[in-house]
Amino acid sequence: MAMHSNQNYSLQSSNSFNIKTSCSRIYFPSSLAELQQLPDLMTENFYILGEGSNTLFVEAKAPIIIQPKFSGIDILEQNDHFIVTVGAAENWHELVCFCLEKGLYGLENLALIPGSVGAAPVQNIGAYGVDFADYCLDVHWFEFASKTIKVLNKEACHFAYRDSIFKQALYNKGLITQVTFRFPKQWQANLVYAGLDVLPKDSTAKQVMMQVIKLRSSKLPDPKILPNAGSFFKNPVVSAENFAQLTKQYPNMPNYPQKNGEVKLAAGWLIEQAGLKGYRYQGVGVHQHQALVLVNYDSDRGADIISLAKYIQRKVSDKFAVFITPEVRMISEQGERAFSSLTDINPIDFNTNDDVVPKGNNND
Ligand SMILES: Cc1cc2nc3c(=O)[nH]c(=O)nc-3n(C[C@H](O)[C@H](O)[C@H](O)COP(=O)(O)OP(=O)(O)OC[C@H]3O[C@@H](n4cnc5c(N)ncnc54)[C@H](O)[C@@H]3O)c2cc1C
Repeated sequence: MAMHSNQNYSLQSSNSFNIKTSCSRIYFPSSLAELQQLPDLMTENFYILGEGSNTLFVEAKAPIIIQPKFSGIDILEQNDHFIVTVGAAENWHELVCFCLEKGLYGLENLALIPGSVGAAPVQNIGAYGVDFADYCLDVHWFEFASKTIKVLNKEACHFAYRDSIFKQALYNKGLITQVTFRFPKQWQANLVYAGLDVLPKDSTAKQVMMQVIKLRSSKLPDPKILPNAGSFFKNPVVSAENFAQLTKQYPNMPNYPQKNGEVKLAAGWLIEQAGLKGYRYQGVGVHQHQALVLVNYDSDRGADIISLAKYIQRKVSDKFAVFITPEVRMISEQGERAFSSLTDINPIDFNTNDDVVPKGNNND
């Protein structure tokens, strides 16, 4: 198995925040036999890395990295649907384009989401009214303890909003090697989401994809030009009572009632209302058009993003008494850490330096 062990393997080009960090060992398993040769991970600090577009390395050193390299796409046609199996290392957007070219429809609303296919089930990626789970049939998952590949059907994956069993009960117990999709032949454009509702009802999947690409490109900075990890915070979900209080004070607050009675709020709106859209401090900041996206102008350090994120969290909490938490994964030399535990990684003290922080300094 390809493996590098030079004490200083740079991961700067393997994370979309462009943070300077390196690991002492990195493994690239591409077969079951290679997975079975991995060291005993129960005794090591490690991180499974896809394309690093939902990952923030918070220190100059990273743990042992495992970057699965399972590739290939297979299509099986059945009476009324297609079954498509895809290797974890395939690129998500390229898969979306490939499916459309082959006449397999469903993923078009998820075009242009960065990252690998193997990471898609982990947080059940979603956009424009569609979630990964909507077309998932099963996930092939290598279990470290038994050294075997298990097949988890969609129900077993416990998909929820930006969540799955891979972030919960199976966290760090294995890795995804392959994903299987089921695309019904009968297809109808999903145009419910704002921005897609301008399209005619009989739009083709290609037209939907082009509109999604247009909308995303106009709203989100390209990480290759302005490093970022997409939405940094999750949209918070509050109780109905809590929302009733908030809406009295903020009648225009965007809200998305959930089936269980709770209400999802727009984290980007909360950040914007807290006065932080376009906010910039040293080498990092809040994107000037999309407050949910934190950007790295010219910092090498994940710690700078952490400081900014903590500041935002506090400002939003002060104004709305709503606690927003990151969607992005925080990786230290010891492996993944909870955002709330990163008290040692906070070089800029935003808590006491409000006055010296330049505001509205947007010259990007
Ligand atoms: C500009 C931009 C826009 C974005 N827009 C969206 C969006 O609209 N919707 C959305 O949901 N997300 C969005 N994201 C987030 C990101 O694209 C997704 O989270 C994506 O799935 C990350 O893929 P990755 O391969 O880069 O994952 P990484 O960042 O490498 O890893 C993410 C998580 O998955 C785990 N993981 C990766 N590969 C495997 C594997 N094979 N087996 C087990 N675990 C694995 C990692 O350990 C980690 O916990 C956006 C990001 C950016 C930069």
